[in-house]
Amino acid sequence: MKQNRLFNHSRGRLAAYYAGTMGLILALCGLAVYEMTAQDHWRSLDQELTSLAGTLHDALEPLLAQPGTLAPEVRAIIPNLCQVAQPCLPVKPVHTHLLNASQQPGYYIRFFDLEGNLLAQAGENPPGLPFERRSTRHGPLMDQAGNRYHQASLALKNRWGQPWGYLKVGRSLAEYEAHLRAIQLFLALGLPVTLGLAGIVGWALAGVAMAPVYRSYEQLRQFSADVAHELRTPISAIQATVETTLGAEHSLEEADGTLEIIQRQNRRLIHLIQDLLLLSRMELGGSAVIPRRPCCLKDLVNDLAEEFAGLALAGGITLQAEIIAPDPVWSLGNEDHLYRLVGNLLSNALQYTPRGGRVTLRLQREKQRAILTVQDTGIGIAPSEQERIFERFYRPDSARSRQTGGAGLGLAIARAIAVRHGGSLGVTSQPGQGSVFTLTLPLCQR
Ligand code: ADP
Repeated sequence: MKQNRLFNHSRGRLAAYYAGTMGLILALCGLAVYEMTAQDHWRSLDQELTSLAGTLHDALEPLLAQPGTLAPEVRAIIPNLCQVAQPCLPVKPVHTHLLNASQQPGYYIRFFDLEGNLLAQAGENPPGLPFERRSTRHGPLMDQAGNRYHQASLALKNRWGQPWGYLKVGRSLAEYEAHLRAIQLFLALGLPVTLGLAGIVGWALAGVAMAPVYRSYEQLRQFSADVAHELRTPISAIQATVETTLGAEHSLEEADGTLEIIQRQNRRLIHLIQDLLLLSRMELGGSAVIPRRPCCLKDLVNDLAEEFAGLALAGGITLQAEIIAPDPVWSLGNEDHLYRLVGNLLSNALQYTPRGGRVTLRLQREKQRAILTVQDTGIGIAPSEQERIFERFYRPDSARSRQTGGAGLGLAIARAIAVRHGGSLGVTSQPGQGSVFTLTLPLCQR
C-alpha cells in the first residue's frame, strides 16, 4: 500500500481527519473541564470567605458600640488586629478554630467606618486596595502591586442595631491563579502531544481499515490485466489472419481455411467471455444462478464417467467410477453447474495424467454431506501452487500447463460453484505422484 500514491494519500487524509476530530473533541472537553474546575474553585473560595465573614459578624456585633470606634474586646476575637494610626500591639496566641484561616498567609480582615475610611486591619496588608462596598463575587479586587483578591463584605450594626460600619474579609488569589495556570499549561502542552498520538493511531487504524480495500483493488487490477492479456491472443490471431488475407488472391479452399482460423479464435473468445460472465454472476450471487432443484449425484457420476470414457481410452488412462453409498445421494442446486464442476476436475485429471495412469471418480456419503473425489496418478501440484490454482487466470508455470492452452478459469469457476452450493472444493497433491480434488456438498432429501 505504501507504494501506491492514491492509497497513501487517502490514508494520510483519514489519519488527519481522525487526529483533527479527536483534537477538537479533546480541546472542547479540556475547555469544559477547565471552566468547571475554575468555577468550582471560585465557589469554594467564596463560600469560605462568606462563612468566615458571617461568623465574625455574629461574634462582633454584640461588642460594637460607638460607630467608627472599635472596642478593645474585639482584640480578644481578632488578636492580630491593628488600628489605623496606632501602633500594632503584640499578638496574644489564641487557638480558636474561627481565626485559624484569618491568621494564615494571604488572608486579611478589615474594618471601615460608614464613610469607607479604614479603621483597622488584621493579616495581610494589600497596598492601595480600593474600598468596595459589596462583595467581589463577580470579579476580583486589585491592589497597587497588581495582586488580585477576593473579598466578602458585610455591613456591621452596633449592639443597639444602629449602622456601625463595614467588615471586609479577603483572600489573595495568587494560589488560585497558580492552580489555574498549571491546568492551562497542562492543556496547552497536552493537546499537541495528544494530537500527535491521535495522528499516529489514525495512520495505523487507517492502514488496517484500508488493507482489505487495497487487496480488492489489487485483485481487480490483476484481473483486468489478465482479462486484457487473454483477450489479446485470439484478437491478435484474428487480426493477423485478416491482414494476410486482405487484398490477396485466394482459392476457395484457402478462404475456407482462413475462415476456420477466425471461427476457432472466435469460439475461444466466446468461451472466455461466457466463463467470465458465469464467474462474475457466481461471485455477485443472484438467486437466479442456483435454481433450487434436487440433483442425483449418483446419476451425475455415472453420466460423467460415460462421457469421459472415450477421452480416457484415447489417452491410455484407466478411468474408474466408484459409488460408495447404498442409497441415492441428492444435493440441492443447479445440475448443469455441478456437471460442469466435476467435468472440469475430470478433464484436468485426464489432461495432467500420463499414459498408463489411473483416474478415479468416487462418491461417498458422510453424515449430512456428499463427498466427491477426483483422484489421479498424474504430474501432481507443488505445495506452493495448491491454493493458487483456484485463483482466476492462475496457471503454474509448468510446460504442461502452457501446452493445454486453458485460460486458468476452470478451477476458479469450479470453486465458485461449490461455494454457491454451500459446499467446498480443495486439493491435496504430491508432485510426481498425483492429486486428489475433494468436493463436499450438503445433502438434501428428495
Ligand atoms: P486450465 O486447465 O484452463 O489451465 P484450471 O483452473 O482448470 O485452468 O487449472 C489451473 C491449473 O491447475 C492448471 O493450469 C494446472 O497447472 C493445474 N491443475 C489443475 N488440475 C490439475 C491436476 N489434476 N493435476 C495437475 N495439475 C492440475
